[in-house]
Amino acid sequence: MTKLIFVTGGVTSSLGKGIFAASLAKLLQGHGYRVTIQKFDPYINVDPGTLNPYEHGECYVTDDGAETDLDLGHYERFLSISTSQANNVTTGRVYQTVITKERAGEFLGKTVQVVPHITDEIKRRVTLLAETGDYDVVITELGGTVGDIESLPYLEALRQLRWERGSKDCMVIHLTLIPFLRAAKELKTKPTQHSVKELQNSGIQPDILVCRTEYPLTKEIRNKLALFCNVENNAVIEAIDAETIYDVPMLMLKEKLDSTVLNKFKMKRNKDFSLSTWKNFLGRLKNPSHQVNIALIGKYIELADAYISIHESFKHAGAFNECSVNVVPIHSQTVEAENVSKLLSDFDGILVAPGFGSRGIDGKLTAIKYARENNIPFFGICLGMQCAVVEFARNVLGYKEAASSEVTENTPHPVIDLMEEQKSITEKGGTMRLGAYNCKLKKRSLGYKIYKKDIIQERHRHRYEFNNAYRKNFESHGMVLSGINPENDLVEIVEIKDHPFFIGVQFHPELKSTVKDPHPIFSAFVEAAILFKQEKMNS
Ligand code: GLN
Repeated sequence: MTKLIFVTGGVTSSLGKGIFAASLAKLLQGHGYRVTIQKFDPYINVDPGTLNPYEHGECYVTDDGAETDLDLGHYERFLSISTSQANNVTTGRVYQTVITKERAGEFLGKTVQVVPHITDEIKRRVTLLAETGDYDVVITELGGTVGDIESLPYLEALRQLRWERGSKDCMVIHLTLIPFLRAAKELKTKPTQHSVKELQNSGIQPDILVCRTEYPLTKEIRNKLALFCNVENNAVIEAIDAETIYDVPMLMLKEKLDSTVLNKFKMKRNKDFSLSTWKNFLGRLKNPSHQVNIALIGKYIELADAYISIHESFKHAGAFNECSVNVVPIHSQTVEAENVSKLLSDFDGILVAPGFGSRGIDGKLTAIKYARENNIPFFGICLGMQCAVVEFARNVLGYKEAASSEVTENTPHPVIDLMEEQKSITEKGGTMRLGAYNCKLKKRSLGYKIYKKDIIQERHRHRYEFNNAYRKNFESHGMVLSGINPENDLVEIVEIKDHPFFIGVQFHPELKSTVKDPHPIFSAFVEAAILFKQEKMNS
């Protein structure tokens, strides 16, 4: 039977439940077990696709086109597995399913209630992945903090599952905070005691406590936590602040979290347990022999989580190149023709980020022109690629009023235009071109040199596309359309022939970079930045 592990959070939000869940999964994977992780989000949006990045950070897109919570990105980056719609469930989705069933008459004659109908639907979705038979362990991360009103149905579903399956197949891990009071110079356990009581009020006794802390936990504190929270002594795990999220699996290993979990489930340890690829990655990440500065031009820069997959992809690519990549977010609204050289001349590469709407577009176009004219390595993602096309149209083809019709609806030159299949769509949720699609690469292009393959699959999230009516014109002026979707002829990659490194992609490569397999475009971009910097220094 597939083992179920639930991860709950206490005291505050933002404790890093996602990173913890991914780290535990990594250790179990190291023991040879097949593990996946799912996230339950207690908000009423059906998915986070309709949320502003300022609200909830990046929207992560899976191969099957689900718009999901950014924690799924951590799961994929740590585990090198592909997640899907089943890995992210929201209260909105749970209610939508139950209400659709009610309308179809499935509960005819009955009053539909939170208990049992909503809790049953939560349980069904928890066990969905377990029942595939593809996993030895399914870890379920419950979003929010114990005590939140909206978490109650999830805790009740969890309580029932724990009761049905017993402790040999189901476990609850409570991630909590042990604050340090500076005035008293003491770590405090009371908030954790209270949050465990809150869990116990819902009929749930945690099996393991994972304690986020700025300072090491003394033996006394561990014993006190065990006694008052009713867990075994070896089930109090210290989770001290880490230098990088990629240290967390190693810290959990030091705390013997893997042994505690495996023993409770009576699962075998792997004699050849090894995290050698991981350690190798950490070694490269922490001992770089190069350093580059990359400008990340976007409009949600106040919140690092809005571009989290891009930041993490740079860590993977940096480690691959033994290079420390200093990514400096720059608000596109601050970039103007008058200050662009002052703002960007110290950078070794410029990345223009994905995005929506017209705010900040002019700054993006100005930054791209600067990168193109000064031979600075350039990488445009989704909206960044579309802006590169508009910039080229305006300044190389001479179509001064060229634009994306997302920004200027009645432009005389819509070089980026709404996709045909989008024209009849009025609903906003889950209606973009989403998920993995094929792209065929042109031989002797930068794209081909990077991927070394004819056909690649990358993930998408967009409504607008390169307008094929302008194709010949772009090509005759030196833009290479090096990646094309073979099914519908959509332009996926653009390059500039006479530029050392200029690439714009309609897809989101940042969603597929992992510790084990850094994304080849990010790796090549960092390499180009290293070269650019060396040449700059030589001259
Ligand atoms: N707004 C653009 C579109 O919908 C780009 C989307 C993106 O960058 N993800 O096509």
